[in-house]
Amino acid sequence: MIVHWHRRDLRTIDNRGLARAASIDDPIVPLFVLDPTVLEHASPVRIACLLEALRDLRSRYREHGSDLIVERGEASGVVPNVAADSGASSVVWNEDYSGLARERDRAVRAALADDGVACESVHDSIHHEPGSITPNQGEHYSVFSYFWTKWRDREKRAPADEPAGTDFATVSGETIPSLAELGFDEPAATPPTVTRTVARERVDDFCSGPIYRYAEERDYPATDGTSRLSPHCKWGTIGPRELYAATERAAERAETTDDRESVREFQRQLVWREFYAHVLAFNPETVVENFSGYANEIEWRNDPDELEAWKAGETGFPIVDAGMRQLRAEGWMHNRVRMLVASFLTKDLLTDWRAGYDWFRQQLADHDTANDVGGWQWAGSTGTDAQPYFRVFNPMKQGREYDPDGEYVREYVSELGEATADEIHGWHDLERVERERIAPAYPAPIVEHADRRERAIELFERARGEGND
Ligand code: FAD
Repeated sequence: MIVHWHRRDLRTIDNRGLARAASIDDPIVPLFVLDPTVLEHASPVRIACLLEALRDLRSRYREHGSDLIVERGEASGVVPNVAADSGASSVVWNEDYSGLARERDRAVRAALADDGVACESVHDSIHHEPGSITPNQGEHYSVFSYFWTKWRDREKRAPADEPAGTDFATVSGETIPSLAELGFDEPAATPPTVTRTVARERVDDFCSGPIYRYAEERDYPATDGTSRLSPHCKWGTIGPRELYAATERAAERAETTDDRESVREFQRQLVWREFYAHVLAFNPETVVENFSGYANEIEWRNDPDELEAWKAGETGFPIVDAGMRQLRAEGWMHNRVRMLVASFLTKDLLTDWRAGYDWFRQQLADHDTANDVGGWQWAGSTGTDAQPYFRVFNPMKQGREYDPDGEYVREYVSELGEATADEIHGWHDLERVERERIAPAYPAPIVEHADRRERAIELFERARGEGND
């Protein structure tokens, strides 16, 4: 027997670790471990997605006459136990690059070695593993555009085949625990459906039309021209090679240069995920530390009431509040709005990006350590090729530009349901009586943007050692 230990690769197709296990002439025992160390860092919405993806994966194994063994406990205890119980001589898994995951894998490797069981890990979740795309000096690129150019020009692997039913062992697993059994409340948000069927349908639908309008529409949250594939990329219900292959086929079908460029633009966005995976692999400490050092500490203001208003979507900045309410309702937020709310928290509320990251980590169904840390450090001007500290998003202007009719705001901020686009995006500049007439239940802006913008720039200049003492 050979154990395939699933982690963030909840699929049987285009799974390199599973294909590797199938290439060895032993029946495969599929395993997933609900590890308390991992669950400790999780949240109801994410675990709801995980359990659904596990039930779906199990049904695929059952169609093959096998089953998914789902066990609770520390991976370093469970994996060797399952290997021993099934008489497995080796265990295969796909690499996970975060610091926590690598620590866990080291412990599992050591425990298996003690039992004399072999193990092998395979690169699967990204096309080119950390350390394989490097600048002349250093272990990884810190500037995305250079990384993208090299990544784009590298040959890509084809999707891995699904093993045949006969490759799997005849096993039967226990019932998959419920959210409550794992100690989680029902999520406040309605989680996205994270199953293989939905992932595949989404890829096919997106690549048959919307991908050609992606470049033009991706920044407008009301119409949302993005793929919504992030929860699937996070849990691995879609494989990176099959997704890329689908985009390449879309490029071949493109009828115009613009269509082809739009596909390219989508591929470029996919590669941010790979870029951040490389950055995190070599800098695991950036989950809690700034990537870019400043001469002095950044003197974040960290006002708890302002942070609570931001979380609740009660800042009086309509586009920010719409995003924060979308996050609570759906466990997902549009990328343009993620950038805006993150800029607002760090630059307008002068709050440490780590407080925002903690909230996103709890609320996002697609929370991915590398992408979330990358996004937050970009917005907070502490990241790799981050937003320069003096370029502060103006939330009113951004609202006018990216939600010109106020449609997105009206969808999530019901108090502004009857307001015009001018009233929505001009909320900051309206007289109090006007605001009370238009939407009495909606708050006045909690800060003055122009004033906070200046304070943010001063804050970063002091951190750089340029300001007055
Ligand atoms: P699409 O535009 O359709 O992109 C397709 C895929 O490409 C995404 O699913 C994702 O896998 C990848 N991608 C696109 N943009 C980025 C990006 N900027 N960084 C990394 N990968 C990207 N993305 C996450 O997957 N998980 C997170 O926890 C996360 N946190 C973020 C936090 C902040 C503060 C910011 C600014 C961005 C964050 N992102 C995160 C990136 C991005 O917002 C989401 O990937 C995107 O909104 C997901 O929607 P989509 O699948 O429709 O995107």
